[in-house]
Amino acid sequence: MSRHIVIIGGGVIGLSSALACLKRGHRVTVVEGDPARRGASLGNAGMVVPSHFVPLAAPGMVAMGLKWMLSPESPFYIKPRLDWDLIAWGIKFWRASTQRHVEQSAPLLRDLSLASRGLYAELAEKEDFGLVKKGLLMLCKTQHGLDEEAHTAEKARALGLPAEVLDATATAALDPAVTMDIAGSVYFPQDCHLQPDRYVATVLRLIRAAGGSVLDEVQATGFRKSSDGRLATALTSTGDEIAGDEFVLAGGAWSPGLVRDLGLRLSMQAGKGYSLTLPDPVELPRICAIFTEARVAVTPMGSTLRIGGTMEIAGMNETVNQRRIEGILKAVPQYYPKFRREHFNEVQPWYGYRPCPPDGLPYLGRTRAADNLVIATGHGMMGLSLAPVTGDIVGRLVDREPAGFDRFEMLSPDR
Ligand SMILES: Cc1cc2nc3c(=O)[nH]c(=O)nc-3n(C[C@H](O)[C@H](O)[C@H](O)COP(=O)(O)OP(=O)(O)OC[C@H]3O[C@@H](n4cnc5c(N)ncnc54)[C@H](O)[C@@H]3O)c2cc1C
Repeated sequence: MSRHIVIIGGGVIGLSSALACLKRGHRVTVVEGDPARRGASLGNAGMVVPSHFVPLAAPGMVAMGLKWMLSPESPFYIKPRLDWDLIAWGIKFWRASTQRHVEQSAPLLRDLSLASRGLYAELAEKEDFGLVKKGLLMLCKTQHGLDEEAHTAEKARALGLPAEVLDATATAALDPAVTMDIAGSVYFPQDCHLQPDRYVATVLRLIRAAGGSVLDEVQATGFRKSSDGRLATALTSTGDEIAGDEFVLAGGAWSPGLVRDLGLRLSMQAGKGYSLTLPDPVELPRICAIFTEARVAVTPMGSTLRIGGTMEIAGMNETVNQRRIEGILKAVPQYYPKFRREHFNEVQPWYGYRPCPPDGLPYLGRTRAADNLVIATGHGMMGLSLAPVTGDIVGRLVDREPAGFDRFEMLSPDR
């Protein structure tokens, strides 16, 4: 039966959900407050990463985070402040950073990522959004870094994900288009990359072609409940109320504020990250890469090269932290010696907020807070990667079907 689905947030998660609901025959309205920026959806590194089966909350992360906090150019920073949400988030992060949590999460993250990759590949048969299926190189500057990555490769293979440990010569043979100064790499052949802005434009076009409605520059401000406890309307900044049968919250890092009044407390911090896109790079790698020790992502996008990194948990503000950008840029010539800091002099940095729950797993599912509300947020560093499968699952949940993944309850927004 066709129903009206109201989706809050027109980032990659909200748009992918809208398309999936339209395909199921529903009427869809997407409410998007800031279509020019679209949260973290446009300027991200564009990687689709089955290799990322370890959640952010993992053993050793707390110690590494504390060490990194001492350096202003490090890839990770938490601004210490007296904020109860941050303190509660930190305690939950610390509690979740166990081997058991990693072991329980890894198969679910693998299954979600592979399903998402499949959906991207399917869409790419009809639409061009720059999907390149050439894998991902985890480039290691040091032998110590390579040994650690080799350990991850072993775990990947145990999960059925192909991963090859390569020395510097074998890495160079795999991507001869770029000069590298490294000890070696781990190659994940199933990973891919794409151009996120083109994916967003493609999905928007398909939504409109299928009769979906996208309300741009309209901010959802809350919900009105009906007497039976279900959500009746979404309240908006224009004063209009949008009535719906089902509501989907896909507001990225802004999501918690919208459901607090419903009694749902989504523990989440905004993890600010930056990217810089070189229009005319001296060399253009064919394969996307992560500089493992520096935690910097490098992605060829058409003829341009995007460099992205840092995770700054410092609230939401318009400040661009130049020291952290320097940290990203310093890493580039260390791994790609033909590049120079000056190449980036004219490039404007972009930033976005990753929606980061404390246990590194998305909030995806129905909630006790309201019977007709689906939560689809908190994808952290993997929102682009998991967008199509999230959309698919939202479609199933809206139709009251099972999500179709083992241990799906680990993602419950009520956890
Ligand atoms: C530097 C960087 C690199 C990254 N690289 C990758 C990568 O390679 N691969 C990957 O998978 N992920 C990557 N990510 C993470 C990815 O960008 C996010 O996980 C993803 O964008 C989350 O999607 P979203 O739709 O949930 O949130 P967002 O992209 O933030 O979109 C949320 C949308 O909701 C709208 N919104 C919020 N509240 C309201 C409201 N009340 N009313 C109306 N609209 C509202 C916002 O305007 C926004 O458009 C990266 C992130 C950063 C910062």
